[in-house]
Amino acid sequence: MTHSLEHFVLSETVREDFPFLRAAEPLVYLDNAATTQKPQAVLDALIDYYTRSNSNVGRGYYRLSMESTERYEHARAVVQRAIGARHPEEVIFTRSTTDATNLVVDTLGRQLVRAGDEVVVTGMEHNSNLLPWRRLCEETGARLVVVPISPQGRVDTAAFAAVLGPRTRLAAVAHVSNVLGTVNPVQELIAEAHRHGVIVMVDGAQAVPHRPVNVAELEADFYCFSGHKVYGPMGIGVLYGRRDLLSELPPYQVGGGTVKGVTFTEPVEYVPLPNRLEAGTPHVAGAVALAAAFEYLEGLGWEAVRQHDDTLVRTTLDAVADLEGVHVVGDPGSDPCGIVSLSFEGLHPYDVGGHLDRHGIAVRCGVHCASTFLDDLGLVGTVRISFGVYNTPAEIERLREVLSTVEPGFW
Ligand code: PLP
Repeated sequence: MTHSLEHFVLSETVREDFPFLRAAEPLVYLDNAATTQKPQAVLDALIDYYTRSNSNVGRGYYRLSMESTERYEHARAVVQRAIGARHPEEVIFTRSTTDATNLVVDTLGRQLVRAGDEVVVTGMEHNSNLLPWRRLCEETGARLVVVPISPQGRVDTAAFAAVLGPRTRLAAVAHVSNVLGTVNPVQELIAEAHRHGVIVMVDGAQAVPHRPVNVAELEADFYCFSGHKVYGPMGIGVLYGRRDLLSELPPYQVGGGTVKGVTFTEPVEYVPLPNRLEAGTPHVAGAVALAAAFEYLEGLGWEAVRQHDDTLVRTTLDAVADLEGVHVVGDPGSDPCGIVSLSFEGLHPYDVGGHLDRHGIAVRCGVHCASTFLDDLGLVGTVRISFGVYNTPAEIERLREVLSTVEPGFW
């Protein structure tokens, strides 16, 4: 199956919005699951914040500080709307997905999980959504239970339901696999968990850049992602939490901005959400620029973003189909999400990655911070091709050309 150019609704005009692509030309950047390039609107938002509004938030009784606070809270409202949260205070700004996961583990996890309890993770989790839970289990004496992954590379609802039991307290689930780009049925998984009274943390790091996510529709308890993977800056991330759950959490870190007043001896009274969970000076410019990233994507139109992404994946699958010794890992099925992972007979992924790099194509190769999943797949690694809104059919053609010249001992 070939895809005509009109399916690529975004490419040519969108590329002009990304100064990095011009500067890096003729680089073919296909490592968007690791981090995305930034549109001019995001760079402008950062510069504008530091040029016109820079002052600390929430603390100053002068105009500039109040304006800065307003920009920060406006950014929160933009993110709230973009992910379909019901209330702005359900959006907690963090450093990243990793930080958001650690926040939930170190607060709710430590409150809820006791020796003999069970914590469920899936067999495809990124280390960020595995190691914090693993450590919690080791420290509390709880058992870490792993849901097996289907041959297609997904978490089946039946397999998930089968591991939930009376001692299950929490479950951690990736929305989209960062290794394969396969999409888990998170809405069904959450519903199943709720039937068992289990709270679910969804790692949405690889979902949010590719499709509109609505946390209220998903009935997610917690949902997190990183700004830098969704065309925003590094150093800013989001934890969405249901308001009733977040309100019960003890502070994650303590420090400035989290308390009403402090003495050396009296019990500390903490401020309400969201500030209670955002100790210290937040990454205000990062939040403002993340909001700009969402506005940019909304400007492109989520339907167009999704269709473009879909077409890039399908075109790549077609392009590699007749390459000898090249195998697609996992089955994206009817719902691919931004990633194609390849294995090569007789070649280590690093050899392929090095060959692509020498020809100006940047991809990620190896275990993608998910060595437990790669072990389960029986692979030393994969070559991961991952897309952004600016990738083009010409880049896929170039990828195919270079891949067709990889041979054992070629270089
Ligand atoms: N979860 C998934 C699914 C990811 O793909 C990544 C990054 O690759 C992370 C978590 C960690 O993201 P960060 O390093 O931004 O915290």
